[in-house]
Amino acid sequence: MHTKGVSDGGGFHEECGVVGVYGRPEAANLAYLGLYALQHRGQEGAGIVSSDGDALINHRGLGLVADVFDGEIIRRLDGEMAIGHNRYSTAGATLLRNTQPFVVEYSLGSLAVSHNGNFVNIHELRSRLVKRGAIFQSNVDTEVLIHLIAGAQHPTLLARSIEALAEVEGAYSVIFLSENEMIAARDPHGFRPMVLGAFPAGGWVVASETCALDLVEADYVREVEPGEVLHFIDGEMHSLRPFSPTAHHACIFEYVYFSRPDSSVFGRNVYEVRKAMGRQLARESMVDADIVVPVPDSGVPAALGFAEQSKLPFEMGLIRNHYVGRTFIEPTESIRHFGVKVKLNVQRDVVAGKRVIVIDDSIVRGTTSQKIVRMIRGGGAAEVHVRISAPPTVNPCYYGVDTPTKGELVANNMDLAELREYIGADSLAYLSREGLYAFLDKPGPGFCDACFSGEYPVAVRSDQEQRQMKLFSALERAVTSRFRASGTGG
Ligand code: SF4
Repeated sequence: MHTKGVSDGGGFHEECGVVGVYGRPEAANLAYLGLYALQHRGQEGAGIVSSDGDALINHRGLGLVADVFDGEIIRRLDGEMAIGHNRYSTAGATLLRNTQPFVVEYSLGSLAVSHNGNFVNIHELRSRLVKRGAIFQSNVDTEVLIHLIAGAQHPTLLARSIEALAEVEGAYSVIFLSENEMIAARDPHGFRPMVLGAFPAGGWVVASETCALDLVEADYVREVEPGEVLHFIDGEMHSLRPFSPTAHHACIFEYVYFSRPDSSVFGRNVYEVRKAMGRQLARESMVDADIVVPVPDSGVPAALGFAEQSKLPFEMGLIRNHYVGRTFIEPTESIRHFGVKVKLNVQRDVVAGKRVIVIDDSIVRGTTSQKIVRMIRGGGAAEVHVRISAPPTVNPCYYGVDTPTKGELVANNMDLAELREYIGADSLAYLSREGLYAFLDKPGPGFCDACFSGEYPVAVRSDQEQRQMKLFSALERAVTSRFRASGTGG
């Protein structure tokens, strides 16, 4: 379950949040707080690896940060350097062995890795490594990076990391930790966010979003630039740009849904961007109505912007239960739309007799929107008009976001009129692709919006090629596990 919201945007799941702390006493405790702030980026598992200068100390577990760590564990994670990771994964892949940071021993010593993103050439790299004799313990892209580093010939971790990163194509915001150094890097396209902060008393922090810096009281310094490698060693930070520059393609969905509204991402405050999207949505698709109601929580800033632009009252006509657990015991006598009702309730006194404009950030499968519309009508609303603060979501993501298949994305299967009918709204409108960039000084370049436009900035193989690659990988895994089970493997 994605605890951030119940809107249909929940069908898109950010895969991870990363944090790294360098040069601070109690580095693991600060990394823990950073992960706490980044909990919305992944709730399936968390881990921290610290270095006391001699060895790496590691703790990982399944569940929320607060469940995985306690005071005793944090005290054990000694040292002035630590990296952490929050993981989201699909249910079937929620395995401890897929939880990061990964820790390995190799020829230069110990190495830990926290990674957010996906590599589009993962299958070729895996196949090549398997042919060379590599054995994989997880199905996570990050393990490929580890093999590439371990197999490189350079005498330093920095040089090996750069060589390995030069081989991967796609999205990464990644942090490496050895006994005495930390390396943070962002891919040349800059798909996934990463920021740099400094502690007033000395020391550095890198994290997926600025909300992590705020909690540990670090000052925001700047974005880690696309293609930049930051090397923290001997008490100093060095910036390198070893890769050929390329056009930047920051993930626009970070603004639409993933990032926390109090974060600054890609140099802009997320709350302000979402409000601007809401204002633009009102300019494009205003309708006669009485109130503007957000689908909480992620729809709130866009609804505020819509209300501001339309001069209609903003009302919390839907209230979200913030204390929903991970599983529910549903009565055998089924309650209609149980899943949504557990998380959201309609305020009858607010919506009854009103013409309601409901603001959400996306429609993925359509079923959640359908239930929300029914819920508001059930509360006595005279009309329900759905407005989406992003264009239709019609394509899956290959750059680090877990998405339904193209066939499962309802906007692929229905035109606007059919979808309006399906969700049961009186009217339905999306923000235009041009309108999505209304907040920018210069529209267009600089962002990836492939899940809306289908314009993938890094080539993605056809579905058939991907299926063949997946099949090949599954066969590899099967052969590898038989090999191990027979006792002849390493
Ligand atoms: S495809 Fe969508 S979710 Fe993936 S990186 Fe691009 S904008 Fe973000």
